[in-house]
Amino acid sequence: MNISQRMQTLTGGGSDGWDVFIKARKMIAAGTPVTELTIGEHDIRTAAPILQDMHGSAMNGHTGYAMVPGTDRLRDTVAQRTTDRTGVPTARDNVLITPGGQSALFAAHAAACDPGDTALYLDPYYATYPGTLRGVSAIPKAVPTRAEDAFQPRADDIAAHAANAKSLLINSPNNPTGTVYSRATLEGIAQVCIDHDLWLISDEVYDTQVWEGAHISPRSLPGMAERTLVVGSMSKSHAMTGSRCGWLIGPEEVIAHLITFATHTTYGVPGFIQDASVFALDQGPGFEAEIAAPFQRRRAIAQAVLAGQNSVGLIPAQGAMYLMLDIRATGMTGDDFANALLDEHHIAVMPGESFGQAAAGHIRVAMTIEDQAFEGALRTLTRFAEARAAGA
Ligand code: PMP
Repeated sequence: MNISQRMQTLTGGGSDGWDVFIKARKMIAAGTPVTELTIGEHDIRTAAPILQDMHGSAMNGHTGYAMVPGTDRLRDTVAQRTTDRTGVPTARDNVLITPGGQSALFAAHAAACDPGDTALYLDPYYATYPGTLRGVSAIPKAVPTRAEDAFQPRADDIAAHAANAKSLLINSPNNPTGTVYSRATLEGIAQVCIDHDLWLISDEVYDTQVWEGAHISPRSLPGMAERTLVVGSMSKSHAMTGSRCGWLIGPEEVIAHLITFATHTTYGVPGFIQDASVFALDQGPGFEAEIAAPFQRRRAIAQAVLAGQNSVGLIPAQGAMYLMLDIRATGMTGDDFANALLDEHHIAVMPGESFGQAAAGHIRVAMTIEDQAFEGALRTLTRFAEARAAGA
C-alpha cells in the first residue's frame, strides 16, 4: 500500500533536530544520570486543586462527548480573558477550543492555506512548525531572523519573502529564542500582512511568561483583528501540558468553518478537561504568575552566572522558559557543543540548529530543573565553553 506523499514528507527529510535529546534519553535508560535542559515541560506537575476539579467533573458525569466547539463556559472564560488582556472585544463565537495549541496551529493553517500555498514562518522556529504547515499541504518558507537583532524579526525581511504567500506564523514570547516582540516589530509585521494580504497566525502560548517588556497581541493592532488567528493553550500558563487543552481565536466566520473542521477531525476536547481548565483560568493572574515564577528566578540565576565572561552570550531572554545562548566564541557548532557537553558532562541542551539555520552556533537551554541544579549545570556549561573558547 502507498502512503501519501504528505505523510512521507512531513518532516522534510534529514535530521528532525531531536538527536541530542534521544541520545540523552538512551543514556538515562542505560543508567547514566543526565541533567536534562531540553524540552519545554515544567518541573512541577498540574496543581492538585485543578486535578480535584477534573476528578469531580468526571465523577459528575462529564465524560461523554462534549460540545465540539468547546463548552459555553470555557469559550466564554477564554473570550473574557482575551478581552481583558488585549482590549479587543472577544465573544464566545470568536473562540474554538482545541486539543492543545498544536492542534490550533494545524487548524489555523488549514483555514488559511490551500494545498500548494506558501506559508511563511520565522527562523529560528518551534520544531513542529514546518511539519505542521506541510500537514495541511502548504509549502513552508522560512524567513530568517538575525542573532545581531536578538532575533527580533525585520519587517523588510518578511516583505522580501511575502510575494504569493498566504500566511505568516509568528511566536512571541518566542520559543526557542526567549525574544518578546516589541511594539515596533509587531507594527512592522502587521503592515506587511496588510500590504501582502496575509493571514497572521500568532502563537501566544507563552503570553504569561514575560520577564522584560510587555506581551502585545498583534490582533489588537489596527486592521489586524479580521486577519489574525491567535493560538493559545493551558499547557505553559497553567502547567497543564498533558491535559491537551488550547484554543484558537479569530473572526467569527473563520471559527464557524473551523468548528465544522473540528467535527471532522478532533470532535472536541473532553468535558472534564474543559471544566478543569475553567477552574484553572478562574484562579486568575496571581496563579499564572506563580506558575511562571520559577522561570523568572532561573533567568536571574543565569544572568548572574553568565556575567563577567564572554565565552557564552545570552540573548536577552525577555520571556518564555528558555535561554538562547550564543556559543560561537568556542568555534563549535551548536550540534557539536551539545553533543560534547552531553558526552563529557552529562548535560543535555538543544542545539540551535534544531530550530533552523538562523540559530546556528547557539544552544537552547530549558529552565526546567530546580534552581540549585540549574545553577550548577550552567556553571559547568560555562566552564566547558570557556575551556573550548581558550583552545579555539
Ligand atoms: N507553540 C509553541 C511555541 C510551543 O513551544 C508549544 C509546545 N512546546 C506549542 C505551541 C504547543 O503546545 P501545546 O500543544 O501543548 O499547547
